[in-house]
Amino acid sequence: MTEFRADLHCHTSCSDGSDTPLTLLELAKSVGLSGLSITDHDTISAYTPELFEKAESLNLQLLTGIELSTTLHKMPVHILGYGFDLHSESLLMFIEDIQNKRRARNGEILDKLKEKMIFLPEEELSTFEKSIGRPHIAELLVKGGHASSFRDAFNMYLKEGASCYVSGFKAGPIEAIEAIHKANGKAVLAHPHFTRKGLLRSLLALQFDGIECFYGTLNSHDEKRFLDIAKQKKWIATGGSDYHGAFKPQISLGSSWVDEAIFRELLSSKLK
Ligand code: AMP
Ligand code: ZN
Ligand code: FE
Ligand code: FE
Repeated sequence: MTEFRADLHCHTSCSDGSDTPLTLLELAKSVGLSGLSITDHDTISAYTPELFEKAESLNLQLLTGIELSTTLHKMPVHILGYGFDLHSESLLMFIEDIQNKRRARNGEILDKLKEKMIFLPEEELSTFEKSIGRPHIAELLVKGGHASSFRDAFNMYLKEGASCYVSGFKAGPIEAIEAIHKANGKAVLAHPHFTRKGLLRSLLALQFDGIECFYGTLNSHDEKRFLDIAKQKKWIATGGSDYHGAFKPQISLGSSWVDEAIFRELLSSKLK
């Protein structure tokens, strides 16, 4: 029998990945995964009845997931939610609030670009089922010839400190964790190695249920450090590739994963 592997961190065209949710399931199957959690930024719109039907037909196990954008001390903190109820009123309201703030922020970025005489086709950003943000604006900047590459678009206009940067739209981690818990899900600190030391200390004091320990760019020293933290706090050690399809071609689906026991632990929160 082949080993059970589940990739718990990936993005689709519902946020800033290039593959549609259905295509991603096929890819997951073809790379030999047995389980998957799609964790789009601030949206659960990938989780349609068709997605569950397709997963079943492929004999692939699905775990509900999301990656929430939050900020603490003005620094970005990504929080993964797993195994939550898709119909939770409080989580849906929380997501709607983030999406409203995202739209307002996108508008402010576009206004700043206009001041520079850069006029982007705004209608392309208003597809409601998508979680739109800076990556999409970056794409339009490249398409319109205002930047030579995605990275160049961020460096020239969109990254923190650049001329058209707008912060905002993000909730605090405590509220995000609460929203996930109210939906009977588990809250996990995403890619902790991207977090500065002081900030990490504050985050480790919060009511997480897990911490992401298996992640492509993590070296074995850090992996061990986070596994030790998980053990000490009795948190679940999760993992995933952070696959974005063609938008981050260096990352392949299934390159980081968890085993069946961890997958089941996250899945079971639903039944509580
Ligand atoms: P947003 O959620 O709209 O603030 O966009 C955040 C996303 O933009 C991140 O998840 C990254 O994929 C991407 N991103 C952020 N900073 C950069 C950067 N300096 N260069 C390239 N991509 C970036
Ligand atoms: Zn992303
Ligand atoms: Fe992230
Ligand atoms: Fe991610």
